[in-house]
Amino acid sequence: MSTPRLTALLAGAALLSLLSGPAAGADAGYFSLQDFPHVPKIDAHVHVHGDASHFMAQAIADDFSILTINVDYPDFPPIPDQERAAASLRARYPGRVAFIATFSVEDFQSPRWAQEAVAQLKEAVAQGAVGVKIWKNIGMALRDPDGRYVMPDDPRLEPVYRYVEAQHLVLLGHQAEPLNCWLPLKRMTVRSDREYFTEHPQYYMYRHPEMPSHETILAARDRMLAAHPDLQFEGVHLASLEWDVDRVAGFLERFPQARVDLAARLVHLEYQASRNRDKVRRFLIRYQDRVLYGSDDSYGPDDSKPEAVADVHRGWVEDWRFLVTGEVMHSPDFPAPFAGLRLPRTVVEKIYRTNAERLFPRAWAADAPRGRGPPASPGTPASGDSAPRVPGRSRP
Ligand SMILES: [Zn+2]
Repeated sequence: MSTPRLTALLAGAALLSLLSGPAAGADAGYFSLQDFPHVPKIDAHVHVHGDASHFMAQAIADDFSILTINVDYPDFPPIPDQERAAASLRARYPGRVAFIATFSVEDFQSPRWAQEAVAQLKEAVAQGAVGVKIWKNIGMALRDPDGRYVMPDDPRLEPVYRYVEAQHLVLLGHQAEPLNCWLPLKRMTVRSDREYFTEHPQYYMYRHPEMPSHETILAARDRMLAAHPDLQFEGVHLASLEWDVDRVAGFLERFPQARVDLAARLVHLEYQASRNRDKVRRFLIRYQDRVLYGSDDSYGPDDSKPEAVADVHRGWVEDWRFLVTGEVMHSPDFPAPFAGLRLPRTVVEKIYRTNAERLFPRAWAADAPRGRGPPASPGTPASGDSAPRVPGRSRP
């Protein structure tokens, strides 16, 4: 190569980098912490109830679209109320909000249960729902009169699976709990699990050896997935295999139709990163097309504390810091420091947005403008605009 030509190339490169600003410099392949509010993102796992105008104002300021997930959870409003709130939110923020329906198992013993559950789902889909959530009550709470736990591969759930598959919807499965739930307190890896299961002994499986094991529940889920190779499935909470990215990888290899989300389990990746950062980073790069960002933040409808929105924002920023930067970080959940994963920009874009758009193509429809929404009225919290954000994020 001749020297003058090399010089010209270098000069050209320098000029280009000057013209296009700092992003085109040495770090063009990476986002920074400062990029956070400027990159369009999707939080594909939240539970937003009520009016939520303050929550949405924050989401818009941080450039998040959301997927709010209805759950058959006794601490949440009744399912019809969740559905009405979600449909209304979607209408008020077109292109910004999508939602996932769910079904009640209250009358599971009735011979008409499946028919009614599917009717309930059809109604939600008519309102715009793009998927169906099956919750951990299947496997951990719902029992037959003889005392046996109803498992995810129970034939009585078939009509629901068939409906989801036929409509090309997505089944979002939260089965079991973090493995910590089956371990003695001193072997639990993160503080928030230790606290939660101390405060909620009824859900602490280690204390209930008569209840199904972690493996039993996940094996039943996996038998159901093996029987439905065309069912689009998203294993939320890292498919309850959060303690080892190799186990999540094994799940994704075994079920090519499956995805996972990070909701409320990023702390487990942080914990693993404190021991072997490269392993966690390699996992996310290898499965960059199959991982969705989600926070699991719950919001509303009963209080209107401004701290709640500030908490959501703080959580979003810290998650971004971990995935995007290489900064040394500390978690209140465990003592060891860990470094952010500094994932390439292309991987971050997939995890934070395009994987969700591909999985739910009708969710944030391109023909609907990304709503800026009705203007929030600063200083006058709307009643019912609220957020009990549980430290360590919500359990559903
Ligand atoms: Zn959740």
